[in-house]
Order: sequence, then structure tokens, then C-alpha cells
Amino acid sequence: MQLRTHILLWALLAALLPLGVTGLVAVGHLEQAHRREVADQLGANLRGALSAVERQLLAEREMLLGLAQVQALTDYLPLLAASRDPLRPSGYEEAVTRLNRFLEAFQQPVTTFQLLRVMDRDGITRVKVRGTRSVPAEFEGLGTLPQVEEESNAPEFVAWLRGLVPGEVAFTILPSTRRGLDAPRRLTMLDAVVPLQFAGEVVGYLAATTWGLHVDRALERVPRLYDADLLLVELDSATPRRHGLVLYDSTGGLQLTDLDATPRMLPSTYPDAPWTMLQVGGEGHLDDLPTAAWYHAEIHPYPNRLTSWLLLARVDRDALLIRYQQGRQAIAVGAALALLAFFGLAHWGARRVAMPVARLERTLAAYTEGDHARRAEPDGPSEVQRLGVAFNRLADRLARADRERDAAQQQLLGQARLASIGQMAAGLAHEINNPLNNVLAYLKLVRRELPVDAEGPRHDLDAAREEALRAASIIRGVLDFARQAPARRERFTVASWLRDAIASAAESARQRSVTLQLDDRGGDDVACDADRGQLQQVLINLLLNAVQASPEGATVEVMAEVLDGWVLVKVCDRGAGLPVADRERLFEPFFTTKPVGAGTGLGLAVALGLAEQNGGRLTLVDRLGGGAEARLELPLVREDVL
Ligand code: ADP
Repeated sequence: MQLRTHILLWALLAALLPLGVTGLVAVGHLEQAHRREVADQLGANLRGALSAVERQLLAEREMLLGLAQVQALTDYLPLLAASRDPLRPSGYEEAVTRLNRFLEAFQQPVTTFQLLRVMDRDGITRVKVRGTRSVPAEFEGLGTLPQVEEESNAPEFVAWLRGLVPGEVAFTILPSTRRGLDAPRRLTMLDAVVPLQFAGEVVGYLAATTWGLHVDRALERVPRLYDADLLLVELDSATPRRHGLVLYDSTGGLQLTDLDATPRMLPSTYPDAPWTMLQVGGEGHLDDLPTAAWYHAEIHPYPNRLTSWLLLARVDRDALLIRYQQGRQAIAVGAALALLAFFGLAHWGARRVAMPVARLERTLAAYTEGDHARRAEPDGPSEVQRLGVAFNRLADRLARADRERDAAQQQLLGQARLASIGQMAAGLAHEINNPLNNVLAYLKLVRRELPVDAEGPRHDLDAAREEALRAASIIRGVLDFARQAPARRERFTVASWLRDAIASAAESARQRSVTLQLDDRGGDDVACDADRGQLQQVLINLLLNAVQASPEGATVEVMAEVLDGWVLVKVCDRGAGLPVADRERLFEPFFTTKPVGAGTGLGLAVALGLAEQNGGRLTLVDRLGGGAEARLELPLVREDVL
């Protein structure tokens, strides 16, 4: 794996992991808080609903107890007490009619009870009001009193009746009600029964059948928080038929008053309900189940029974937690997008950094392979650019050092060559000089002995002598070049040195009708610390070259000026200028463009050697407007600082 991939991956983890974890933890906290809030709200909601139901049930019980005391009923009780008498008591029909009227009137404004019955002490219904209409007594029973329904003949029921406490409401399923249950039909509420007393003895029972209309109304008024489904379930572990019976279901449209509906049990209707936990009852919630959260509260609707009602609110898990699931999804999608964006940007950034670095690497590799002309392109991030610039500077410096080293080597080679040429020339010159002096001496002797009239031979001898003298002059030049004795330094003023040199060259100039003109511009003030004799030789050589190059009647100017610690002496002529083709060779020994006999080609070579030996520089350039200019630079000592 490449280093940059490593770095990218770690950077990615370092950025995304804490962000993702923080996001998920935050969502988790919010979700928990939301769950607590929902549980609190729904708990309060259920408690409120149940207390409304309880109030309603209590009111009904109170009403039934109150009904047992009303005049129309107490007037009827003595007649009811005579239910086993062989004769029907007089005034019985009127009393029944009054009681029916009263009960019908009682039910008129609000139909509290669906059925009201007055039973005798054997549980036989003698008076019955269904809704607001009394039911006529149609059956002639065993006794003298007419009965409304057929006899039930249920000894357990009669025994149960016997056990009732006067002044208290008890609940059961009346045999007449049970008869209707043979079909799969629901019975939501138990019948309420109150013993009726006359002369200190229980003579009958007032029974009320309630279908739960008021409970339905109370439950309908419960606000549906969080879109909760509301269920009322009966818990009665002693009666399996009713244990888990759904009495009310807001989703299924089931109400307590739907008597004809098929009985539904909670575990089969709602398989996702935590039935095992719910049947324990009480108040609480279960909100970590996979499909739905369940909130529950319990009441005991019948004082004399263990039966209880569980009011349940069922909230769909998605509806409850959708925004948190969405939050988690958003974090996941955000992380995925961030991942993509990060990879894209990282790739782009890495390319931006890596490409210039790779280019720089190729440049360095090419350089080390020998391509010394190669330079880095200023490209990419500023650090890489600076690296490239630094490399370029280094390469430039190395190139300059190479050039200087080559030049120094060339110079050394040149000097070595000159030295060997000089040595050889000096040897030759010495060997030739002595015989040449002898030749000149003999020529002189021969000339003296010639007869006065021997014009021809004398002329020949003079010509021979001329040639010998010329050869001697060449030999002197060679010796001057070769000798190059170490400089004997002395301090002298530039002006006096220039004047002496011009005086030495004056005769040669005069012979060619050339004027030598000095312009030393304050040369009196400046002094040099050098070998005056050697420098005079340099200047004479330059002057002679200028004179030889000048046409007749021309002027050779000699100028001196001071520049930055140097004195610059210029010897300027108006001749033909420097030979174009051989400009590089002017300072080579024995290089000359002059006709045979006119030049030895040693003047400039000697002058350059002497100038450098005295710490100076010598160059030759063409002049603007024609002619040549010899430039001799020497380190100076100012007179005023002597
Ligand atoms: P020589 O004078 O004997 O030829 P030098 O070494 O003095 O030898 O000069 C070498 C050559 O330099 C000359 O032959 C000439 O071509 C050229 N030269 C020197 N000085 C001048 C000048 N002032 N004007 C033109 N050419 C010059």
C-alpha cells in the first residue's frame, strides 16, 4: 500500500469515526429521552382515561343503589315479598305499572342501563325495562305473580343471590344474559345486582345490565397521542374465556357496546403483544419490542371480583422512532457521502501534490544520469515549487563551477604549454645567439678589410649584417618572452611611467610620422606597486603595435584613468582594427599577421605574461569608428594614502 493511501485512510478514520460515533451517541440519547417522554405522556393519558372510566362505573353503582331506594320500588317490594303466596296480592298490576312508568321515566333523559330487572328472591324476573320501554309480563309461572322471562332454574345462581350483602352492588352474568351467549357472542360487562329489603328481609333483587356505552364514550374522548391504538382488555385468570378478551379496540373499530361481535382475544388478535408480561397487569410500558411499543394501566371495574381491565396504548415502532431511524440513516448516508467526497478530494489533492513531486523526481533522476542542462519546472504546491527552485539554483551553481574549473584547466594547460615553448625557445636562442654574435663580428672584420672601391661586396656585406641584426632582434624577443624573471616590485607614479614609455617609443613613431599623445588625467596622483621595467616593456610593445597599425600621420592616444582601485591604461589607434578571424590567437607566441621580417609574434605574448606577473590584466578590443584599443589594467596605490 502506498504511503499516501495509508495517510488518507488514517486521516479518513480519524475524521469520520469520532464524527459518526458522536452523531450516533447523540441520536441514541435523543431517542432515549423521546422514549421517556412518550412513556410519561402515554402513562398520564391512560391513567386519565381509566379514572374517567372508573368515575363512570362508580356513578353507575351509586345510581343503582339509589334506584333501590326509590318510592316506586319500595312500594312494589311488599307485593314482591308475596311472590310465593297462592294468591296474587291485590293492587299488584297497579304497582308494577307504576314501577314500570317510573323506570321508563328514569331511563328517559339518559339511558344509563341497557336493561333493568326486578327479580324475586328466587331470581325470577318480575319487572323488566329494556332501554326506555318496559317489557310486559307474558309468562304465567309456577307462582301467582306473572313473570317477564321464562324461569331459569339455576340453583347455583339462587345460591349466589342468597350470599349477597344488602346495600352493596355485586356483579355476575345473569342466567338470562348467559342464555344469549350460546352463540359466539361477546359479553363485555357483567350484570350488577343489588338485594332489595322489605321489613328487614331480602325480598328481591334489582339487576342492571350495562353494555358499556359510557365506557365507550369515555374511551372515545381519550386523545390519541402518537397515533396510539387504544385497547381495553379484560384480565381474569380464573375465567379462561374472558382472560385476554378484547373489550375495546380503536383500530379494529370494536366497542364495548358491539355485543354481536365475535369475541377476540388479545394474544391471537395481536400476536406481537407481549401477552406474558401484560397479563401481570399494573402500570408500565414495553418500548423495546421489534414492531410496537406497549403502554398499559389497570383498573378493577367490579368491586367484588378479581377481574381487572387493562387499558393498552399500542404505538407503532416506526411511528415512534422514525425520526431517529432517519437520523441514523442520515448519518450513514452523510458518512458515505463524506467518504466519497473525501476520496475524491484526497485523490485530486494527492494528484496535485504527487504529480509535481513525481516530475521533480524525474528531473533529479535525469540530472544524476548526466543531463546537466535539465531544470525543474516551478509547479504544484509552494513547498514543491521551492524545492524545484532550490534544485535549479544548485544545478546552476554546479554548472558555473564546472565552467570555471574548465577555464582554469585551460589556462593551466596554456601556461604549461607557454612555459615549455619558452624553455625551448630560450635554449634555442642561447645556442643561436653566440654564433650570431660571432657572425656579426666576422662580418665587421671582413668589411674593414675590403678595398675602398669594393662597393659591390660591401653592399652585400651590409645586407648580410642587416639580416644578422634582424635575427639577433628576434632572438632578443624570444629571450624576453622566455625570461620572465620574477617581478621586482617598486612604487612609481603612473604618469612618470607612461611618459618614459612614450619617450622610448617616440623614435619608432617619428619614423612612421605617427604622433604619440598622452592623456593621463591626474596620473600624477596615482601610483602602482609593481616591476616598473617590466611594465614599461609591456607599454612599449603596445605602443609599437599601435604605431605599426596606424596609417602615416595618424595619432596614437595613450589614456590613463582610475576605476575602482585599478588604473586603466588605454593605447588607442586608428588602424585597420584587429584581424577578425584570428582574434582568439593574438596572444599566442609567434602569432603574427605582419609580413615576414616585420613581426615576430612575440610582442603581445610577452606583454600579457608580464602584465599578469604584476597582477594586471591585458585585453585587446576594436574601437568604435575603426582602430584597436589595448587595455592594460593594474592594481593601484593612491598617492594620498601612501
Ligand atoms: P607582431 O607585432 O610581431 O606581429 P604581436 O604579438 O605584437 O606580434 O602582435 C600579434 C598580432 O596582433 C599582430 O600581428 C597583429 O595582427 C595584431 N595586432 C597587435 N596590435 C594591433 C593593433 N594595434 N592593431 C591591429 N592589429 C594588432
